[in-house]
Amino acid sequence: MLQEIIDILFQSIKEPFGYFLSPKKRLYILYLSTSLVLALYVYFKKRTQVSFLRYIFPKKIWLNQSAQVDYSLFIINGFFKVIILAPIVILGIYLQEWVSELLFNVFGTPNIELSRSSIVITYTIVLWLFGDFAHFYLHYLMHKIPLLWKFHKIHHSATVLNPITQYRIHPLELVLNNLKSIIVFGVVTGLFYYLTNGKIGIIAFLGVNVFKFVFLTIGSNLRHSHVKFTFPLWLEYIFISPFQHQIHHSDKQEHYDKNIGSHLAIWDWLFGSLIVSKKVKNLRFGLGRKEGEKHKSILDNLTTPFRK
Ligand SMILES: [Zn+2]
Ligand SMILES: [Zn+2]
Repeated sequence: MLQEIIDILFQSIKEPFGYFLSPKKRLYILYLSTSLVLALYVYFKKRTQVSFLRYIFPKKIWLNQSAQVDYSLFIINGFFKVIILAPIVILGIYLQEWVSELLFNVFGTPNIELSRSSIVITYTIVLWLFGDFAHFYLHYLMHKIPLLWKFHKIHHSATVLNPITQYRIHPLELVLNNLKSIIVFGVVTGLFYYLTNGKIGIIAFLGVNVFKFVFLTIGSNLRHSHVKFTFPLWLEYIFISPFQHQIHHSDKQEHYDKNIGSHLAIWDWLFGSLIVSKKVKNLRFGLGRKEGEKHKSILDNLTTPFRK
């Protein structure tokens, strides 16, 4: 028993730090390096007097009380991942089997002949598109449904941003996000399993999704940072740039509930919640003074959703 507890504790501590070595995670050392290169570009364009090191690692950001809450949640959520989420990942496989069986019972054997490569390509595109929309929609609900907003507020209570802020989410939001991913995976994979008569093999599941890889390489770590990295105007109507996500964190009322998307900006465009970078000059992050006061410490952030 004691050995099991020690194992779980060890796993939970190892979990978040493993992110730096996993190509599936935004904090993967390669993606951090490419973000740094892009930050260097912004630094030279800005022509500031301070050194690059000072520009990128200012103490007032990285050692800020808000950043310390990020680091704590990064570790705490590691426990939730190991204890609650790892065991439920299997649900995705059950859901996939259930969906393909249901389709088979309703529609019979499908009459589609696809080559292996076209299966992999369409599966990757559909999974990515559906996943991106599901992410947008769940995030949209978190902003619009008061009960969910109470929990999502924790992500928005950050007053400074650094790449770890991505993990500054309430454990309940972590569970919701993972359930969403499991459902997306189960439904899309079940559909493809049915359409390809089970030919969708392990190759389609493994490895980093190409879209995700491109997105992670082009500075996704700068979304949660003070580096103002924007895309050309036309591109910001298609993809959310790092600075557009920073606008999502703004404490100004006119920016509330804007730029909700993860990769594609098209969903925000359709829902009328898109703001492009050139419309915004200076930003201050957080929930404003009154709400910010209630979300200072790690304990505040974990318990405020349950307070009246
Ligand atoms: Zn949000
Ligand atoms: Zn964010």
